Amino acid sequence: MTGRPEILFPLFAGLETLPGVGRKTAETLSQMNIEKPRDLLFTLPHSVIDRRRKASVLDVIAPATATVEVEVGRHIPARQKGRPTRVEVTDAATTFQLVFFHAAGDWLDRQLPPGERRVVSGKVELFDGVAQMVHPEYILRPGQAGTIPEFEPVYPLTAGITLKTMTKAVAATLDLAAPLDEWIDPALVAREKWPGWHLALEAAHKPEGSADLAPTAPARQRLSYDELFAHQLTLALARAAARRAAGIGTNGTGRLRAKVLDALPYKPTGAQERAMNEIAEDMGRPIRMSRLLQGDVGSGKTLVAFIALLIAVEAGGQGVIMAPTEILARQHMESLVPLAEDAGVVIELLTGRDKGAERAAKLKALAAGDIQILVGTHAVFQGDVQFRDLRLAIVDEQHRFGVAQRMELGRKGQAADVLVMTATPIPRSLSLAQYGDMDGSVLDEKPPGRKPVTTALVSAGRMDEVIEHLRGAIAEGRQAYWVCPLVGESEIIEKTAAEERFKRLRAALGEGVVGLVHGQLPSAEKDAAMARFVGGKTKVLVATTVIEVGVNVPNASIMVIEGAEGFGLAQLHQLRGRVGRGAASSTCLLIYQPPLSETAERRLAVIRETEDGFRIAEEDLAMRGAGDVIGTAQSGLPRFRIADLERQAGLMALAQSDARKLLADDPKLTSERGQAARVLLWLMEQDKAIRLISVG
Ligand code: ADP
Ligand code: MG
Repeated sequence: MTGRPEILFPLFAGLETLPGVGRKTAETLSQMNIEKPRDLLFTLPHSVIDRRRKASVLDVIAPATATVEVEVGRHIPARQKGRPTRVEVTDAATTFQLVFFHAAGDWLDRQLPPGERRVVSGKVELFDGVAQMVHPEYILRPGQAGTIPEFEPVYPLTAGITLKTMTKAVAATLDLAAPLDEWIDPALVAREKWPGWHLALEAAHKPEGSADLAPTAPARQRLSYDELFAHQLTLALARAAARRAAGIGTNGTGRLRAKVLDALPYKPTGAQERAMNEIAEDMGRPIRMSRLLQGDVGSGKTLVAFIALLIAVEAGGQGVIMAPTEILARQHMESLVPLAEDAGVVIELLTGRDKGAERAAKLKALAAGDIQILVGTHAVFQGDVQFRDLRLAIVDEQHRFGVAQRMELGRKGQAADVLVMTATPIPRSLSLAQYGDMDGSVLDEKPPGRKPVTTALVSAGRMDEVIEHLRGAIAEGRQAYWVCPLVGESEIIEKTAAEERFKRLRAALGEGVVGLVHGQLPSAEKDAAMARFVGGKTKVLVATTVIEVGVNVPNASIMVIEGAEGFGLAQLHQLRGRVGRGAASSTCLLIYQPPLSETAERRLAVIRETEDGFRIAEEDLAMRGAGDVIGTAQSGLPRFRIADLERQAGLMALAQSDARKLLADDPKLTSERGQAARVLLWLMEQDKAIRLISVG
């Protein structure tokens, strides 16, 4: 199958092919992210109006929609311009009023002749204790009242798209959609009692009450599952393709690792042991490793990463570790050098700042195998960087990388194993969505002896007290970070705010005691400022969020976050993770500008209550929803139209195992179910996945 199957053509045609949809409507729909009939299928109603016939408006609890048969009474004309016209009507139990604003000409007289019977349907409200129905949606003779739907789905709309247009377009699309062969494991369909694809669509678009709208409704579950399954199938295909590419079994001697572990002043945690074993086993297999190492700040990822690099070196090969920024690459270098000395291996740093002869010399040493471990930024993946025998590539903090970028990375070292490290704990459902093509190791245990960080909320009005507190702490030899408020996208405004704060703190605490880093500083100055702080020359480091990830200064035991209400949960957690790394007990002061919004208050309360990154991540997901937790656009996380990663988390794990199993049984998707799954991939616009099958 080289192109989209014909059975799907009508669903991928222009929206104008639908009745009632012209060019203008199509354009408006596209603003709602609806580009083709297919998108309409997956735009489900968010609520439903019950229009089942009642004897009287008294049978519903106002405000609510009621459908009743009435006898039309007198018309009460508008008393003045701009006031409504009223029509008195009587149902089986009561008399109430229909209310019309701007009723034109004799329209009302024709619609509602006094003395005749009509069926009306609309929203009943109480006005001064009296029921009234403003602008009924339906006014019909009793003989025609059968055209009123018992349940009317309500779709998301936008200006220019009426419910009627939407409903009609969806109905037409449902007619265009041919039933498709089942792609889900038949045993799963039976166990869950899920309807087939087409039936599920019909049920989801024709809810008969709010239970049908719940994420637990079988039709919705099934349609969500389809989305997740297509996504997991794509990830599984990527995984299979990566593993198919010849890998090298890298088995170390253990000699260098033993040296390093013996020299450590501490014992690895159980979680570190487990992760090191998982990685060693994976690298030993002659397939390409693609593994995610997740661990909260301070969980000890560095040691695990270094042990993995040593396996590559023990086997006579090389390893590389890449960080997202220059500062972080340098920090890695600093923490790895002592370990490298223990092991007696050659480690070198390569960043965008290496130029000319120096760079050339490094590249030469790398190509000759004289450099065993390379630390760097993106610069290490430039075309002219050649390794003699690259066995392991570690990517740190690349939680913003999507599957596509990971595939790219895999191409560099011909058969190198890949380990991605992230310090951003993410909930399991999201981690499966984002990294479902990889295997995982989790550091869920902190090294012993960590003291909890005391976290306090301080209103901005008490800034002077905070500065006094800092003065005392500095006198005791402690160091502090001072993080400036997040200002949207503008680095310039952030820089100005940071400079202002820097000046004020310098005036209060003394020349030479306070340092400053922000994103607009030339990198040499940034590094110098960091170095002064790391070396203990400056005691307070005023910073924008450039210090957010990875920076390690054990003597820093105070974290002041100004404008804390403007930060997300994950950011606050990351920032606080910068302290509590040394012997002293640590403090985190969250300075906020009152009054706090309800959500900001909840966020800050969560941060104050717990230091558990995974718990914070789950709270974050619950508060914000999946799309926002990891910025969708850059995360590689697809925008699911139906699936709800918070409330249907279990489905994702199911989809992953089902997808992997299908591919294990039918790698080329040629069986009957495999063919159906291909149609699903086309339906879900997983073009990349389809290319993966065809190259396979
Ligand atoms: P991460 O990179 O996961 O944030 P690091 O690897 O920087 O964490 O480790 C944080 C600190 O904990 C470092 O100073 C490191 O030396 C120390 N550390 C790592 N593992 C252990 C352990 N098992 N016991 C005690 N200290 C440890
Ligand atoms: Mg391998």
